[in-house]
Amino acid sequence: MATDETANETILLRGARVIDPSQGLDAPGAVLIQGERIVASGPIGTVSVPDGVRVIDLPAGWVVAPGFVDLHAHLREPGFEAKETIQTGAQAAARGGFTTLCCMPNTQPVIDSRATIEYVLHVAHGAPARVRPIAAISKGEAGRELSEMGELAEAGAVAFSDDGRPVQSSHLMRSALSYAAPLGLPVVEHCQDDDLVGDGVMHEGQIATMLGLKGWPAAGETITLARDLELVRLTGARYHAAHLSVAGAVDLVRAAKRDGLPVTAEVTPHHLLLTDAWVAGERTGPLAEALAIMTGEPLATGVRYDTNTKVNPPLRTAEDCAALLDGLLDGTIDVIATDHAPHTIVDKDCEYGEAAFGISGLETALGALLTLVHTGKLPLATLIATLSHRPAQAWGLDAGALRPGALADITIFDPDEWWTVEPAQFASRGKNTPLTGLRLRGRVRQTWLGGRQVYEAQ
Ligand SMILES: [Zn+2]
Repeated sequence: MATDETANETILLRGARVIDPSQGLDAPGAVLIQGERIVASGPIGTVSVPDGVRVIDLPAGWVVAPGFVDLHAHLREPGFEAKETIQTGAQAAARGGFTTLCCMPNTQPVIDSRATIEYVLHVAHGAPARVRPIAAISKGEAGRELSEMGELAEAGAVAFSDDGRPVQSSHLMRSALSYAAPLGLPVVEHCQDDDLVGDGVMHEGQIATMLGLKGWPAAGETITLARDLELVRLTGARYHAAHLSVAGAVDLVRAAKRDGLPVTAEVTPHHLLLTDAWVAGERTGPLAEALAIMTGEPLATGVRYDTNTKVNPPLRTAEDCAALLDGLLDGTIDVIATDHAPHTIVDKDCEYGEAAFGISGLETALGALLTLVHTGKLPLATLIATLSHRPAQAWGLDAGALRPGALADITIFDPDEWWTVEPAQFASRGKNTPLTGLRLRGRVRQTWLGGRQVYEAQ
């Protein structure tokens, strides 16, 4: 990734708080980069300064962390370039501090062939983030016939998923796990029982009833997750549960891990922080509570039927948010992934029931999640681990660490800088966020990819 001019440059980042969960490092420190890799890192004073090094002194209040690794992003290319392209998605990633993006295969054509994987990798070449394709489980994500998983792995797939069109057939899921196991790659499921969920558009509960919107019950997620975990028990294959949204799902994964099953799980910032009340314009839940504490005033009421709150799985209850945070804190949930799902204005500018599902999440993730840190609910080092080291470990990616030998993919942020969410400023083509106009505290200042600075805040 490094350009010729920087290929052999030696750079020292010095003076900020360096947090690298991969080596338990959290101290005022320094990171020494040579070419595209890190050659030394540690508390300031322990890293020697070679001759001819370019020294970059950083404010003591800033944080230097491994570049964030997103296991769940929709980059929309090929096929839906009006929503996002690989380039704009990678630019959004750089602005959000993400240096590795694993992109979902629900494109047009679906990423289910060697040619499509090669296309994605080709287009991503030189982009300001590493793009790692997730290949489809079934041909065309049609849920009938397995894709050529061996060939897809060879072409560069890092996982398999039919996200967007969850696998309904238990038999197909069993086959997928059996074929993925010898390849050593995880099968990723968006847990959703289509038959039960039907055309539900928001969490099934009081608020859906009050708003007259069709409900998507919690059991729609747990039924499929429970089925999959039994199939993992049967096959011994690696399995990753995408975007857990309900308390019952956290319990299932916790029990599966206790049984020693090779299972990992993710949660999105919006499922951790927002509730179904946001659909009614009532902003409750962890984000609202944290911002009220941080600013000393309650969050203003939002818009009823804001289609930017429509996401799949849907925003749940405050109890679910609490269970998801508990799961993150006790390690049941391994990673935070954005499920970045950009859409055009037209996709969202319609009745709630008709609107597309999804939130554009790469550029607000850090600022939103830091509200939990600022209010003492989540240690900063844990947040960084779940955004970098743990996702890299979960899928065996060369990323997520500042250790000597690691790729010099680095995120530098000011945890205390206040900024306003203005989707018009997003690099992403997807302006669809329910956080528009909110003031968040914590902003990415610089992003480095392979020893090269790819983003600097103005
Ligand atoms: Zn999904």
